[in-house]
Amino acid sequence: MGDQFEIHPNPHPVARAEREALLANPGFGRVFTDHMVTIKYAEGKGWYDARVEARGPLPLDPATAVLHYAQEIFEGLKAYQLADGGVSLFRADANAARFVDSAQRMAMAPLPPELFLGAIRELVTIDRDWIPGTEEASLYLRPFQIASEVFLGVRPAKEYIFCVIASPVGAYFTGGVKPVSLWVSSEYTRAAPGGTGAAKCGGNYAASLAPMVEAAEKGCDQVVFLDAVERKYVDELGGMNVFLVLDDGTLVTPPLTGTILPGITRDSLMTLARADGRAIEERPISMDEWREGALSGRVVESFACGTAAVVTPIGTIRSEAGDFTIADGGTGPVTDSLRKRILDIQWGRAADPYGWTS
Ligand code: PMP
Repeated sequence: MGDQFEIHPNPHPVARAEREALLANPGFGRVFTDHMVTIKYAEGKGWYDARVEARGPLPLDPATAVLHYAQEIFEGLKAYQLADGGVSLFRADANAARFVDSAQRMAMAPLPPELFLGAIRELVTIDRDWIPGTEEASLYLRPFQIASEVFLGVRPAKEYIFCVIASPVGAYFTGGVKPVSLWVSSEYTRAAPGGTGAAKCGGNYAASLAPMVEAAEKGCDQVVFLDAVERKYVDELGGMNVFLVLDDGTLVTPPLTGTILPGITRDSLMTLARADGRAIEERPISMDEWREGALSGRVVESFACGTAAVVTPIGTIRSEAGDFTIADGGTGPVTDSLRKRILDIQWGRAADPYGWTS
């Protein structure tokens, strides 16, 4: 099919005053726009029936494959309302490419990137009034794809639904950037070699919930997952990649060996840091190196990164082996400057030499 979307505007959109009240304080993931985009797929037919329509329930037969074997993938990206009145997306092509990679890992029909990008543009255009205009608030876009075939056999489905919904979200940090505390999970791992760690599939997040609860019980904001083989090396957080800053200015981050999600923020920050002439090492980081480096002063900063919070300083790390704090537990100059650099590009306040915004 060409990238033709049939457009059926919502006959009952949220009234302006109500929308504005919702946009004033949207929080995260509870407020939704008036529309959604759906595209269907059937084996032998390909992708078809691309529609922009009123957001509403997806009717699913109880035997729909996704409800049983979790053949599901998703993405997350944001649309920003720029000061000049324009709307900007950040590296949406990278999300489209990762969506294809995730589909392949989950044996699902890959959605052509031009359809992924077309769907996002259609939704952002029709729901433009839902993009918050307030500082650092944005419209979070959630593309996802499910196995929609009604069949209980364990094999790749022959039918899929791709859908994009949108949710206005407030600034992640209100009242200033706050360092996060991490709990090192020794009981649970997130991804084993050869598993699905590099795919953005719902199952990975289902598996991260019990360790998240454990982290909260330990008084921590997030979980750090260690490698599943030796339980020694840092993989990533439940929804963010990790960087260390060494005392000579070097950035260190775990390599993409298939057990962590290849973050688009991670990749962007490495590009920006490299352009500054900063040394970057993609290599395993052991928990011992992190702890001893924090205590000796070799590790001067640590931060987590991802679409939602962009760049977040890591303050304290707790584990069965004891707690340690990075420097004084606050944020640091490299973290702050990388955070500012990427936000300025995302918000159109700085030149975009890499063509990341569109
Ligand atoms: N790791 C995981 C497990 C994630 O869910 C995310 C969020 N997509 C990230 C890392 C960061 O990826 P990105 O920078 O592309 O948002």
